Order: sequence, then C-alpha cells, then structure tokens
Amino acid sequence: MAEFDTVFHARRLVTEAGEGSGCVGVAGGRIAAVAPLEAGLEGRRVVELGDDVVLLPGLVDSHVHVNEPGRTEWEGFASATRAAASGGVTTIIDMPLNSIPPTVDVAALEIKRKSAEGQCHVDVGFWGGAVPGNLGELRGLHDAGVFGFKCFLLHSGVDEFPPLHPADLDVYLETVRGFDGLLIVHAEDSTVIEQAPSCHGAHYLDFLASRPRAAENLAVGHVIGAAGRTRARAHILHLSSSDALPVLASARRDGIRVTAETCPHYLALSAEEVPDGATQFKCCPPVREAANRELLWRGLADGTIDCVVSDHSPCTPELKRLDVGDFGLAWGGISSLEVGLPVVWTEARRRGFGLPDVVRWMAEGPARLVGLRGKGRIAPGYDADLCVFAPDEAFVVDPRRLHHKHPLTPYDGRPLRGVVRGTWLRGQELAGDRRHGRLLTRGEA
Ligand SMILES: [Zn+2]
Repeated sequence: MAEFDTVFHARRLVTEAGEGSGCVGVAGGRIAAVAPLEAGLEGRRVVELGDDVVLLPGLVDSHVHVNEPGRTEWEGFASATRAAASGGVTTIIDMPLNSIPPTVDVAALEIKRKSAEGQCHVDVGFWGGAVPGNLGELRGLHDAGVFGFKCFLLHSGVDEFPPLHPADLDVYLETVRGFDGLLIVHAEDSTVIEQAPSCHGAHYLDFLASRPRAAENLAVGHVIGAAGRTRARAHILHLSSSDALPVLASARRDGIRVTAETCPHYLALSAEEVPDGATQFKCCPPVREAANRELLWRGLADGTIDCVVSDHSPCTPELKRLDVGDFGLAWGGISSLEVGLPVVWTEARRRGFGLPDVVRWMAEGPARLVGLRGKGRIAPGYDADLCVFAPDEAFVVDPRRLHHKHPLTPYDGRPLRGVVRGTWLRGQELAGDRRHGRLLTRGEA
C-alpha cells in the first residue's frame, strides 16, 4: 500500500534550498515528504516530470479585485479564480472595494463569502476595508477572518469606498495594532495630485504627469511616520515610484514595521512605450519611465520590496473608453492575473534572476505578508499547492485564450517565456470546471 496519494518525480523543483531535483510526496492534500529524486518515493499516482519543467509552489496573489457581487460584469469569482488556476496562482486574496457592498463590516463580508461559495477554482481569502466611520468594525472583521485592512489616501475611484485622511492613519493603525493586524495602503497623496496637471487627453505622458512620483513619495512618508509612531504593521500597495525605496529601506533599518509590494506592470512596462490612447495601460499609481522600472528591480534584489502581486483590476471594455482614448475618462486598472508569472519571469531572467527569486516574490513573500503559514513553499506540512512550469517555452499573449472575464490587457501580443503546464490545489489537479477552492480564514490556513 503506497504511503502517498500522489508523488511527483521532479527533475527540477524550487524549494527553500533553491533549484534542485526531488520527489514530493502528497498525502491528504498536504506535502508529506520532500526527498532526493533517487529515493524514488512511490504513491498511488506518480507524476513524472521531464527536465523541461520546474515544479514550483502555487503562487499566492494577495492583490486581486474580483468585484463580485455588485460589479460582477467587471470580473467575478468563477472567472477570476479560473484565470488564477491557469496562471499557476493557487491562492488569491480579494480586495474589499469595487464589489458592492464594499467589505467594510462583517455583514458585507458574509455577503461576499456567500457569493464566492461554490464558485472558486482556487483558494480565496478576503481583505477588509478601512474607511471613515468604520473604526469600530475592524475588530469584528478581524475576528471574522479577514487578512487585514485596505485604505486609500485619495479618492479610490468608487464613491462607496472613501479614503482616510493621512491624519487618521494613527488611530486606524493603533486599532489594528491592538490585535496585531495589518493595514495595507494605497499610497498616493491627494493634495499633490490635485495640484498636478490635468489627467485628460490621449497622451500617456500627460497622464503620467498627473500622478507624479511626489504624490507617492509623500504618502509613503505619511504611512511610515504613522507606523513608526504607533508601532503597527503597515504595507505599501503597488509601489511604482522608485524614489520611495531608500525611504522604505531606512524606515526598516529603524525597526518600523513596513513592507512593500510592486506589480508585474511596473516591472515589465514603461511609460515610453505606452501608445497614445492605449488606456488598457492605465492604472494608479501609473507605469513610470524605464529608468524607474530598473530601480524597482534593484529594490526587489536588495529585499526592500517584499513581493510581486498582480493588482488585477479589470472592468468592462466600455469603461476603458478606447472609443476616445482619454486617460482621464478611462477606468484605471490592469488586467493580468493569468499572465503575471510569465510576465515577471520573462523580465526576471533577462536581468539574471532565477526561479527561486520569482518564487520568493510571488509565493513565499505574499504568503508571509498575509500570514498564510501553510502556503507558498514546497516543504513538508505545507498545502500541496503546486505549479508545473515550463520556463523556456515561448508564447505570445492572445487575450482571447485567457480566462479573465474580458480580453483587454496591455500584454496583448506580447511575446513571453514560461508556460504553466498544470496547477494543483491541495493535491488535486485543477482542470476544466473543477471548483474545489476553499474560502480561507486568517489564522486557520
Ligand atoms: Zn488594487
């Protein structure tokens, strides 16, 4: 009688020790053993992997806007999690806004859970929201299992999710620290942006000038200041301005509990290459210059940036206003969940990074950020969430073949390296319409 349900014989795999070879034995949905390839572990099912593929831990994407319920026509749990599975992502954490109601109290969290139930191809957790007036709801949301709280420091794009004033950060952080929670911040300062040039028109560089680095730099400073005063944990979402890197590094040296993420688009795209009117490239903060992009890579290399997550934030094609190509009118948000891994890998390998780096940024880092102790690694005791990845295989992004609800993406037609050949969630291969994703609760998973 075999000891394992499934055994992977991987000529290449990524563990904490780096890239090597090994057998991975899975029992009861968990990784039960990692042994040298020569050990030849046996299971009821044996998956022989060739040397053209690398076994990776399933990715954890802590920044996804699913938008259901309320704006399900933008994206939904079924389509988003199907796209995630196809892209090697086995866990997503859903953002509290753009869905209606926004996840700002326990009743809204329950509504969101009900609408997700039974639809998910991968595991799904939820962020709560921190908005003016809901300070008293945070503890309840925390106890109900959200992974932390998102706030904005400027208009979020939707009226039902208003921003906090920077002066309010202290009291929200103090509250969150009371239960060792996490506040995650969209860090752009509204006063700087109000004084910046108009965002309207078809020229990308005009749009870029309307969301200057100074807005991010100042807001990051506000967050660091408040995190330092309150000794709470804060996290900078979707960092685009490389100017903020030395400030973040120095705050961490001072013991301030602040982390940061960036996104595939800031690492792969550049302002110089965005065609006029191409609003599928619009997101906030914006994609900046190529020189800025290279400094973000340096921030990843030296550990100032902890993770790379998609900020998948689609909408209906009409809201992108490609009819007029006006960056001011278009909804801001980039659709990328399914292609995040090949986008980052293509750029990473070009700069001399390896797959263990990508795993650190896209699996281990986000899992650590949200406190998912059983995900993001190939190691005994961890969930058997796995991605079979062919790193040398080339393809061209064809949006009609992606599983996002809408095909609009800035990666349309982009040649990439790295194809996800298979994805496994808690020991089960994800294929077709199998939906055995679980709804995750902080502390349990
Ligand atoms: Zn976002």
